[in-house]
Amino acid sequence: MDTTGSIAERIEKVCAVLPASVKLIAVSKQASAEAIRAAYAAGLRDFAESKVQEEAKKQEELKDLTDITWHLIGHLQSNKAAKAIQQFQWIQSVDTLKLARRLNQLAGELSRTPSVCLQVKVLPDPDKFGLSIQELMTALAELNELQNLKIRGLMTILPLGLTDTQILEGFKSLKQLSLDINNQNLSRIQIEELSMGMSGDYALAIEAGSTMVRVGRSIFGERKVMSKSV
Ligand SMILES: *Cc1c(COP(=O)(O)O)cnc(C)c1O
Repeated sequence: MDTTGSIAERIEKVCAVLPASVKLIAVSKQASAEAIRAAYAAGLRDFAESKVQEEAKKQEELKDLTDITWHLIGHLQSNKAAKAIQQFQWIQSVDTLKLARRLNQLAGELSRTPSVCLQVKVLPDPDKFGLSIQELMTALAELNELQNLKIRGLMTILPLGLTDTQILEGFKSLKQLSLDINNQNLSRIQIEELSMGMSGDYALAIEAGSTMVRVGRSIFGERKVMSKSV
């Protein structure tokens, strides 16, 4: 990963390999409001945070930038679900049916209709949150009843330590899952977005059909090491 150059130069480098159909989402966790402004000035409008609290502080500092779309990509505790709905246009980390139900109920109370991704573990991974493919397929009928959620995408984070071939296969299985879901012709669920690919693997994700890459370090530089950051 190349993190030389300014934020604008790094964004330009990432954009150079993105097809027009793929949206670049800047993962700004641990990045300062100033760094986000630099990325905004370079043309980015989609930013992702993993913590509700951290995003609230930045949104306050950046409230003059009214056309930012904020994406939540970290595990959401149910006591922060109402805040998440108010602060984020996209909740990409819907990792249980229970959380989906809760968000749906709160969204109704708050008269919101957040766009969401279901977070899927395409490979078993005890360190990550997410529905298994089997759990998701079983939950689909009920998910389709959740009137206040726009279930528009699938998100995945692959386990660490895979070869490039395994990474590509993993991303392709998310693509296949989206086709299987769309083939069911559910009335409310159409998967249009595949949120997959991070700094280390976005090229492979694009090859497998990603429509949203979530890139942090390649734009903002290395982060401090934190325990269990995803
Ligand atoms: C941190 C994070 C990213 C970005 O990872 P980088 O390696 O910094 O590009 C993407 N997705 C999720 C869910 C994350 O938590």
